[in-house]
Amino acid sequence: MSLLSDRILNMSTSATLAMAAKARELRTEGKDIIGLSLGEPDFNTPDFIKNEAIKAINDDYNSYTPVDGYVELKEAIITKFKRDNNLTYTLPQIVVSTGAKQCLANIASVLLNKGDEVLLPCPYWVSYSDIVKLNDGVPVEVKTSIDTNFKMTANQLEAAITPKTKMIWFSSPCNPSGSVYSKSELRALADVLVKHPNIYVVSDEIYEHINYIGGHASMAQFDDMYDRTITVNGVSKAFAMTGWRIGYIGAPEKIARACNKMQGQITSGANCIAQRAVITALNESPMRVKYMIDEFKVRRDLVLDLLSNIDGFKSNTPDGAFYVFPDISAFFGKTLRGKTIHNATDFSLYLLEEALVATVTGDAFGNPNCIRISYAASQEQIIEAIKRIKDVVS
Ligand code: PMP
Ligand code: GLU
Repeated sequence: MSLLSDRILNMSTSATLAMAAKARELRTEGKDIIGLSLGEPDFNTPDFIKNEAIKAINDDYNSYTPVDGYVELKEAIITKFKRDNNLTYTLPQIVVSTGAKQCLANIASVLLNKGDEVLLPCPYWVSYSDIVKLNDGVPVEVKTSIDTNFKMTANQLEAAITPKTKMIWFSSPCNPSGSVYSKSELRALADVLVKHPNIYVVSDEIYEHINYIGGHASMAQFDDMYDRTITVNGVSKAFAMTGWRIGYIGAPEKIARACNKMQGQITSGANCIAQRAVITALNESPMRVKYMIDEFKVRRDLVLDLLSNIDGFKSNTPDGAFYVFPDISAFFGKTLRGKTIHNATDFSLYLLEEALVATVTGDAFGNPNCIRISYAASQEQIIEAIKRIKDVVS
């Protein structure tokens, strides 16, 4: 009998976290690694949020929290959904969790039975497929390419649906492609889904505010989709609060109650201090964090400009998030500095070893032709990293 369960043995390590750990390890060996692998803002959490956390500590917020979150936080989330997304939710429809990652894990565990299929438009965020598999679901990849800005069309969706399809999971703005679905593009997908009333949608909107074209659209905004859409969001990205670990859902009440029940046996309520701070973050206008979004846009343009001067990199213009996802398949079969590049993983490792730049292979996101470059790094680091990349691939 093996010590570890089949469950953990069959699970992949998170490629984003693994690459970040590898970069950290190389740095401790004295290597000058530039990390463009992790989707983590390089800004500090804004002071107006930090001050609330300090106040919460001094006000003795130290007990277990309600499993689904403080009422004041759930009210702030309801206000945020109404203000930013024109979505109406009530208290029992909201669940606060330890990061959007836990929201997704809850959803999978309360909705999936063995063999249920979950459609994942590719590229998708790295953890989706393993969270689905962990809960006995079957991830079904729906391929897209750079030529359609990595967006799934209604026809592709229709063709991927089978009697076993239980859900579709996607993020917009998308990690890793940065693609943003417009309202009409979502409507076209909804038109397919209304013909299949048993399919639920997980709309991961954690990059909502990191959108350079405006007009964030939510699937739940359509009356005919509201009752079967779970809107996932969180504060990690726009508020630079990755380590605080707060995410939340707005969902049909039955699903929210099930997530609450699941969480009650797995982790209990999310951290008390972080929740108090997030009440303030969400009650304030998103304009308070616009300075970060403006800077991300400058960096996006910088990365695209620099990459456009490297032969073999084919990039589209991502409209949101803080990633570019260039197609680098032109390098497959080539030998660079004595190393043959067979695939995107080889290429990403080559960049790490030769250019000392950490990226993430597209394989981790269901796209074997691309790599993900995070530009949540300073302009100086970006300029230096891409100069190094250019040197080692030219
Ligand atoms: N969804 C997407 C698309 C992400 O990129 C991330 C990255 N952190 C998450 C969910 C999870 O976010 P967190 O757990 O930090 O709230
Ligand atoms: N979501 C971020 C990323 O894609 C953070 C790392 C993670 O949670 O996987 O890099």
